[in-house]
Amino acid sequence: MKYYSTNHTAPLAFLHEAVVRGLAPDRGLYMPERIRKLPAEFFDHIDSMSFQEIAYHVADAFFGEDIPADRLKQIVYDTLSFPCPVKPVEDRIFSLELFHGPTLAFKDVGARFMARMLQYFIHEEGTKEVNVLVATSGDTGSAVANGFLGVDGIRVFVLYPKGKVSAIQESQFTTLGQNITAIEVDGVFDDCQALVKQAFLDDDLCHHMKLTSANSINVARFLPQAFYYFHAYAQLKRMGMADNFVVCVPSGNFGNITAAIFARQMGLPIKRFIAANNANDVVCQYLQTGNYAPRPSVQTIANAMDVGDPSNFARISDLFHADWQQIRSLMSGAAYTDEQIRHTMRHCYEANHYVLDPHGACAYQALKDLLADDEVGVFGETAHPAKFKETVESAINAEIDIPERLAAFMKGKKQSVSMSKKFSDFKQLLMAE
Ligand SMILES: *Cc1c(COP(=O)(O)O)cnc(C)c1O
Repeated sequence: MKYYSTNHTAPLAFLHEAVVRGLAPDRGLYMPERIRKLPAEFFDHIDSMSFQEIAYHVADAFFGEDIPADRLKQIVYDTLSFPCPVKPVEDRIFSLELFHGPTLAFKDVGARFMARMLQYFIHEEGTKEVNVLVATSGDTGSAVANGFLGVDGIRVFVLYPKGKVSAIQESQFTTLGQNITAIEVDGVFDDCQALVKQAFLDDDLCHHMKLTSANSINVARFLPQAFYYFHAYAQLKRMGMADNFVVCVPSGNFGNITAAIFARQMGLPIKRFIAANNANDVVCQYLQTGNYAPRPSVQTIANAMDVGDPSNFARISDLFHADWQQIRSLMSGAAYTDEQIRHTMRHCYEANHYVLDPHGACAYQALKDLLADDEVGVFGETAHPAKFKETVESAINAEIDIPERLAAFMKGKKQSVSMSKKFSDFKQLLMAE
């Protein structure tokens, strides 16, 4: 299968080119040329299949032409070695818990899948050593670093803003060593992002080393996120609750919800979507007015969604030929202030004894506000609440446990390189590799 760019001026790319490049040469995002519908018999039997079996069928529809079946199966099975259970929270509202992976955030699925696919291309296609650059405000860095840890032929550079990342998050990517280099930048997240972007545009660097990105612009990171929506449907079907299935996703760069839209295009019976935002509500505004007006992000307590110009909006727009009416007939939006998020966490804990993290809280509240009486809603619970321990504890006025896995990271020794926010310093560091 070939991949085209959402800007429509770059040549079609093979899968391995799209994955190694990340962004298309015309700065657009890669899209698969075709989205295959899965056969009716797959959906008839989906409730008797395991998560890994379901995911393999979905992966085969996208990557089956480019990766041999046994290898693809191995990539899928290695990636999904943890569950994504659907849990009832209250009447007709279910939580899809996506935080049971190594770094306790849904990004583990895409990051692990991408790492294993890149590894396959490096071995089989003779791609030379690849350097993954990732700017993070917390969750992306840890998922990517852990996904790529110890993978031969791949080096990872995680850039993060000094003093702006929680201690738990920092420990998840600064204690790893091996092929992971953590770079503590004397600046803010936007400075880290700017350094990464500038590196991709620097001819000397691109000549010196193969650079790629591992955020949700990468097809290998974003498409696998479709897997767990099929699995969620299978679980609802088993409970006899799969009619009028509504999916609500806490959204920042909109990669996760775009993957859910792809699942629907493949035939998964999702009735409609709700995008939940924090105060960074550019897409919610677009859904209301038809005008897409990106603006600088503001800091919130759901900080993984502090995005002012969501990159995957380009994919949604492309999929529906920029038809606002069509997009808003399929997707609605809801946005919440920090105050509302705190209130929601507290309410849900008191009413249902369910602890939400600040991101999942936006999505839970959006379902409460927008779900119709005949619908069943599933919201993505995208991070374990312990990753935002202080915020959550002060909102619900109770203590929460730190999972063993998270505590183990915190015992590790911090190793990171301090750097200014000057591009010349970053370039020098990379050129020395
Ligand atoms: C990254 C992230 C999101 C936003 O996901 P997108 O795919 O960027 O929309 C939501 N919640 C958490 C916890 C995240 O880490």
